[in-house]
Amino acid sequence: MQFKRLKLSGFKSFVEPAELRIEPGLTGVVGPNGCGKSNLLEAIRWVMGESSPKSMRGGGMEDVIFAGTATRPARAFAEVLLTAETDPDGPFGAELEVVRRIERGAGSAYRVNGKDVRAKDVSLVFADAATGAHSPALVSQGRIAAVIAAKPAERRMMLEEAAGIAGLHVRRRDAEQKLRATEANLARLEDMLSGLE
Ligand code: ATP
Repeated sequence: MQFKRLKLSGFKSFVEPAELRIEPGLTGVVGPNGCGKSNLLEAIRWVMGESSPKSMRGGGMEDVIFAGTATRPARAFAEVLLTAETDPDGPFGAELEVVRRIERGAGSAYRVNGKDVRAKDVSLVFADAATGAHSPALVSQGRIAAVIAAKPAERRMMLEEAAGIAGLHVRRRDAEQKLRATEANLARLEDMLSGLE
């Protein structure tokens, strides 16, 4: 999966719609302190399903919406769109487009290639491609020390993410829940059958 384009609107300091093309090779973002460089990385993490406001440097998730300045009113929503080149024979065709939108008082909504999906589905899309909101490839300020100090279980999670198998845990949990529900249904059925005999 190769990220191609990032579009932001009303996200943190990006009040006006902004579009960035991500070309193959190394991309550098330069600018004065406080101009929004880290906000760009956070937008990538956010659209991939980040659920912790703290790791977005906010108190609540709505803090990602442009909060207004002395001269500009606050915005009612924030939206980030990420386009990636994907395997043409894979489930999304040659291009994957993920959109996350948050509205004040209404929470987040996601779309993948134009279809409404759940946050969990978006996380799985990226986990299967060995990336995601918690990918060790996204190194924000202060994170290097955290990686060095990570406990063995946390380090294992990083390796699993890098290997693209992190999504299997979610699928296993889902499968176990379905299995438990089916077992409960079977037990009920057996009770009913023995009641009929
Ligand atoms: P540095 O080089 O110092 O690390 P940076 O270029 O990485 O800075 P960011 O930390 O990405 O800059 O951006 C910080 C700016 O974003 C601040 O000016 C802050 O006021 C602004 N900002 C963050 N959240 C919002 C928001 N919800 N609404 C408006 N502006 C915001």
